[in-house]
Amino acid sequence: MHLPDFNVAKDRTKKENIYIDLKENYSNIFAGKKYFLRTYGCQMNVHDSEAIRNYLETLGFINTENIEEANLVVLNTCAIRENAKDKVFGFLGKCKYLKKNRDDFKIVLAGCMSEQPDVIEEIQKKHKYVDIIIGTHNLFDLPKLLSEHFKKQEIEVYSNSDEIIEGMNYSRDSKITAWVNIMYGCDKFCTYCIVPYTRGRERSRKLESIVKEVSDLKERGYKEVTLLGQNVNAYGKDIGETFSHLLECVAKTGIDRIRFVTSHPWNFTDEMINIIAKYKNIMPYIHLPIQSGNNEILRRMNRRYTREEYLELFKKMKEKIPGVAITTDIIVGFPNESEEAFLDTLDIVKKCEFDGAYTFIYSEREGTPAAKMEDSIPMAEKEERLQRLNELVNFYANKSNQKLLNKVVDVLILGKSEKDSTKLYGYTDTMKLVNVQGPEEIIGNIVSVKINEAKSFSLDGEYIGN
Ligand code: SF4
Repeated sequence: MHLPDFNVAKDRTKKENIYIDLKENYSNIFAGKKYFLRTYGCQMNVHDSEAIRNYLETLGFINTENIEEANLVVLNTCAIRENAKDKVFGFLGKCKYLKKNRDDFKIVLAGCMSEQPDVIEEIQKKHKYVDIIIGTHNLFDLPKLLSEHFKKQEIEVYSNSDEIIEGMNYSRDSKITAWVNIMYGCDKFCTYCIVPYTRGRERSRKLESIVKEVSDLKERGYKEVTLLGQNVNAYGKDIGETFSHLLECVAKTGIDRIRFVTSHPWNFTDEMINIIAKYKNIMPYIHLPIQSGNNEILRRMNRRYTREEYLELFKKMKEKIPGVAITTDIIVGFPNESEEAFLDTLDIVKKCEFDGAYTFIYSEREGTPAAKMEDSIPMAEKEERLQRLNELVNFYANKSNQKLLNKVVDVLILGKSEKDSTKLYGYTDTMKLVNVQGPEEIIGNIVSVKINEAKSFSLDGEYIGN
């Protein structure tokens, strides 16, 4: 593994200096070159891509959606599921074809796959046309690696660092809502998950930097921020802070809407619930993954809570936070999950009546403890279970949406609906998608919408005023 001696960002808290250095040292190399960026995976990756785009554009690169005219292709990858990895390798095949006979066509592999030793090895052996592999913690070094690589031809691998990054700039996708990273990594080591190996240990950003970032976003007219972390409510334990204190400080900036993902039940405290209930600009919406309703499976997943503890927490949230909506993640077909264990999961869905759930069939990730577990459950059975689960989840999602029928709700309008260009779309405070009949001038505003139709995955309504 080649670890270059970088001088661009030794002190990662001096943001202005870093960006001046970038422009002075590198813009003559890259000005006018075109980049193509593709993002796979979760919100973390989407937000990392906003940072990558900002770097590239600070360096003088111009964005193109046409890969054939690009000089640089950046794939910001995901390692959570095997099929995400397959998609990346499929796309690399296309890049290889385009790169033929072109010295000015470079390929960068970034994101979680770049942190996996088996992927790095596979690329070094079989995909030698990839120019740079850069880990999620090392984006700061992309300019230097790029400038070096435009001059030479070996694969550069630069990943695995536990540094905390402050002062990143982003070319944000939206001018209304923004992601704000508050911490990196995860210490939980759920047995099925690759994240602790690809994103490193939990590292929290400084509270003042986060609050300043949110205040700046508010000044620039942003209406909503989503505080982001693999384990967002574990924030602060490495720096003597707490997530509830951070939430309160962010609420006091006065920004209209605050959200946060993803919370781990094990880290949820009463204090957090009290702060969410206290501030109107902290949205009454919590994504609280349960993964399974069976204690034995939860133990084998290393989730650190029992179904009883989850239910108690769930009940407390419902009692203390008025109108709170709670969604979840569920895995079916964890190694050797019995029918009885699966029925426990259906049972907890019935008890909680979740507003929605992301449901998945267990997918083995090489290098995780669960990948070594014996599994005698046939795939057809897992698929059948997923179907039963989805039917139940959709029933409750629909039931929860029906409660809003004929009600007037606040919706932050984000833009034109992709499915129906005569409509706009936005989200309620409880994170329900609403397609809205209304004038384009309301885009970017929180407006009152009367709900006329409620479906399982969305609501339809009409704008009735600000
Ligand atoms: S809490 Fe578990 S599932 Fe979530 S990122 Fe950490 S290890 Fe993965």
